[in-house]
Amino acid sequence: MSECNNDCSNCGQDCKERGQVDKPRLNKFSNVCKLYAVMSGKGGVGKSMVTAQLATLTRRLGKSTAILDADVTGASIARSFGIKDKAYGSERGILPAESVTGIKIVSMNMFLKDESDPVVWRSSLITGAVTQFWTDVCWGDVDVMFIDMPPGTGDVPLTVYQSLPVDGLIIVTTPQELVGMVVSKGVKMAKMMNVPIIAIVENMSYYQCGKCGEKLEIFGRSKVDEAARQYGIEKTARIPVDNALTSACDSGKIEYFDGDWLEDVAKSL
Ligand code: ADP
Repeated sequence: MSECNNDCSNCGQDCKERGQVDKPRLNKFSNVCKLYAVMSGKGGVGKSMVTAQLATLTRRLGKSTAILDADVTGASIARSFGIKDKAYGSERGILPAESVTGIKIVSMNMFLKDESDPVVWRSSLITGAVTQFWTDVCWGDVDVMFIDMPPGTGDVPLTVYQSLPVDGLIIVTTPQELVGMVVSKGVKMAKMMNVPIIAIVENMSYYQCGKCGEKLEIFGRSKVDEAARQYGIEKTARIPVDNALTSACDSGKIEYFDGDWLEDVAKSL
């Protein structure tokens, strides 16, 4: 068999790489078993918090876990884990940072002089950076990797769905968002791209009174079960508004936070 020149049009071989050669290849010193994207229709609904919690729970289940932060202009994953390290290179590629419990993380903040510097880039550069996080980072052996997607259905989600081997999608939303069309756009995009939707998470679903335990649906009645039925999604989860969660994310201590709302989803991955 002649050596692959990455051009299927001039090759008669029927190999397993056929038609795949244009896709970005994972760094050659890495192996990722399962890849899940976490997306939301809009920003600020808790997508990064859900990504961080899912990674934490997956790690607690004993799996080697990683997060690729594809929310390049709004990167907040490193902060949730208290990571301040800059990116380092080795002859095998860029080395991910490691959280306290050993979650491997790559986020744009690790490449900025100051994490408050804005990333004022055209979308082609942003998608290029996300692709490089896949091809140039030496991730090593990873059981489960999560991609924290930028909100919406723009260039980066398109690149991720089209060119990375995504096994499934987790949609994060709020009760207010479920009323509008934002979520259905994300669902339709995933269906167009043939990416299975694993779960839908309704964040800020209710507030639980610390004294009497009553659950108050402060942003309106939960619609997550209805939406799951409508879109044919098997798993749902509800996360309350919780002050302790805000502090855990904002002080870089998400790994120490005890919340079991996403345990079922994490186990199913
Ligand atoms: P996104 O990734 O969708 O932009 P984030 O996950 O960064 O949103 O969340 C935005 C802010 O809201 C963060 O400060 C986070 O700690 C806080 N937050 C998210 N979900 C909750 C919740 N259920 N209870 C309290 N604070 C939350």
